[in-house]
Amino acid sequence: MHTFCGTAVSRGFVSGPAYLLRNAASETVPELTVDDPEAEMARLKAATEVTRQQIASLSAELKKWSGNPDPDIFSGHLMMLEDPVIRAECATLIREQRRNAEYAVQQVAAKYMTVLSEMDDPYLKERSKDVADVSRRLIRNLLGNETAIPFAADKPCIVVTDELTPSEVLSFPKRMVLGFAADRGSATSHAILLARALGIPTVVGLRTLSTVTHTGDLILLDGSRGSVTVNPDAAARAAFAKLQERGRALETALEAGQDQPGMTADGHAVPLYANVDVNTAMSSLHQVHAEGIGLYRTEYLWIALNREPTEAEQTEAYTQAVRTLPPGTPVTIRVLDLGGDKLTRQDDRQEDNPFLGNRSIRFLLRHPETFRTQLRAILRASAHGTVQLMYPMIATLDELLAANRELERAKEELTQAGIPFDHAIKVGSMIEIPAAALIAEDLAEICDFFSIGTNDLIQYTLAVDRLNEAVSNLYQPTHPAVLRLIDRTVRAGHAKGIRVSVCGEAAADPAIAILLVGMGIDGLSMSSNLIPLVKYALRAVPLAEAQSLARQCLEARGATAKTIETMCREVLVRWVPAMR
Ligand code: PEP
Ligand code: MG
Repeated sequence: MHTFCGTAVSRGFVSGPAYLLRNAASETVPELTVDDPEAEMARLKAATEVTRQQIASLSAELKKWSGNPDPDIFSGHLMMLEDPVIRAECATLIREQRRNAEYAVQQVAAKYMTVLSEMDDPYLKERSKDVADVSRRLIRNLLGNETAIPFAADKPCIVVTDELTPSEVLSFPKRMVLGFAADRGSATSHAILLARALGIPTVVGLRTLSTVTHTGDLILLDGSRGSVTVNPDAAARAAFAKLQERGRALETALEAGQDQPGMTADGHAVPLYANVDVNTAMSSLHQVHAEGIGLYRTEYLWIALNREPTEAEQTEAYTQAVRTLPPGTPVTIRVLDLGGDKLTRQDDRQEDNPFLGNRSIRFLLRHPETFRTQLRAILRASAHGTVQLMYPMIATLDELLAANRELERAKEELTQAGIPFDHAIKVGSMIEIPAAALIAEDLAEICDFFSIGTNDLIQYTLAVDRLNEAVSNLYQPTHPAVLRLIDRTVRAGHAKGIRVSVCGEAAADPAIAILLVGMGIDGLSMSSNLIPLVKYALRAVPLAEAQSLARQCLEARGATAKTIETMCREVLVRWVPAMR
C-alpha cells in the first residue's frame, strides 16, 4: 500500500482500478533508420491530417458544451501542427538523417518543450505542455492508434498519468473515467478546469504516483482532501468506504438545496456569485443557481486571443455573459488585470518582481487607449443588463480618481456617438492590496461597492508569492493580519453604506465563508462548482453563530492562523456535521 498526498482540484471520493495512461518512462519511441524517406514523409503527412481532424472535432465538442463563442484551447495546437519551422526540422531528420517519423517528431518536440519550459514568461512556459500534447497525439497517430488516446480499459477506472492534457480529458469516454490522478499539474491549468467542469474527481501534484502504479491496481482517490492510495489494505478500504458514504450523502444534500438562494440558517441573505472568464461554461452558472457574476476576469480574453481584443470583440463577450443570466442579475466585470503571472505571448514586460510591477490598473492608466476601449465595451454591455464595473489592484486614491476620469471620458465618447449604456452603472474597487484596506474609508467615499480579493490580499500582506510552493505554508487566509484588514474594509464600506463582498478563493472554503459572513461580508464569489458546498454550509449556520465566531477570531490575543482556522472548522462541523 502507498499513500500519496497531492492537491485536490475536483471534489469527490472514488475507488476503482487504475488505468495507467502514461508515465514519464513510457514516452520513448524507437529510433529507426528508414530506407525510403519519402514514404516516411507521406506517413507523417497523413498522420498530421488525421491529427488536424481530431483536434478540430475536440474543439467543436468543447464549444458545444462550454457554450462560449470561442473558448479555443486547441487553436494553439493547430498552430503548432502547422508551424513551418517545426515541420522543416522534422523533414530534415527524416530526409537527411533517414530517421523514422515518430522519432523525428519526438526529437523536435522535445527540443521545443525544453526551450519553452525554461522561459521565465509563465505563458510561454505553459505552451510547452501544448507541444507535448500535440506531439503525443501525432506520434500515436503515426503508430496507428485510431483514437489517438490509447484508452483500452474495459470497465470504469481511475486514470493515472504523469500530467493530464485538455485533449485527453475531453477524449476519454466520460462514463469510463471515475477520476484522474496525476503526478503534476496546477489547479488552474486548462486540463484541470475541464475535469472540474465535467465533475470528475481529480487530484494532481502526486509526484511519483505514475511510477509505482500499474494498470489494474486498486486506487482510492479522495478529491476533497487530495490523497490517493494505491493497493490499500483492509483498514484503509474500510475507512475510505465510510468517507465515500459521507461524501455521497453530502453530494445528495447539496443537490437538494441548490435552487435556493445563499443565506444563513435564519434567513440572512448572502448571495453567492460565480467567478468567470472567457473559458467558463456559462451553463454551469445555471446548474448551481449562481446569483450573478461576482468577478469576470477579462484578462483571459487577451490571453486566449494572444492580442488585444477589439472593442467589438469585447462588447460581444461581455454582452454574452450578461445575456446568459436572467434579467436583473448582477454581472461584475473587472477591467484588465494583466501582469503578475497573467501575461500574453506578445507581452514584452521584463520585470524583476512582476507581482509588484506594472500590473493591472497601473498598466491601464499608462495605456489610456486600451483602458478606454475596454471601458466603452463594458459600458456598451451595460445596456443589456445589470453590469457593475470593478477596478483591480487599487493602491492609492489617485489611481481610483484617475480611473474614474477615464470612465467619464469613455461615457462622454459613447454619448457623443449616440450609443446606449447604463448611465447609473455601479463602480467599485477591489481591495486586494493592504494599502487599499488601510485607506478604505477614503476609497469608500467614491465607490459603489468593494470586493475583497483575498488571493492577492494574502500574498501582499504576508509577502508570500501566491504561486511559490516553497512558501505555501505561509499563505494563510486566516492570518490575524489578513482578518484585521478585511474587518477594517467591511467597517469602512458599511459606514458609507456600500456592500462589501469577497471574490478570492478563501470565499470558497465553507469554514472561512462562515467567518466572513460573521464579519459582515455581504456576498461571496467563487468558482461556480464550489457554490453548492458553500451554500449548504451557510444555510446550516445561524447568523449569530457566525458573528460570535468572527468576534472570537478577531479578539483572540496570541492567535495564529492555525488556531483561527481550527476555530472556524469547529463551528463548521458543529453545524454541518456532514463536512467533518
Ligand atoms: C484576488 O486577488 O483575490 C482575485 C480575485 O483576483 P485574481 O485572483 O484574479 O488576482
Ligand atoms: Mg487579484
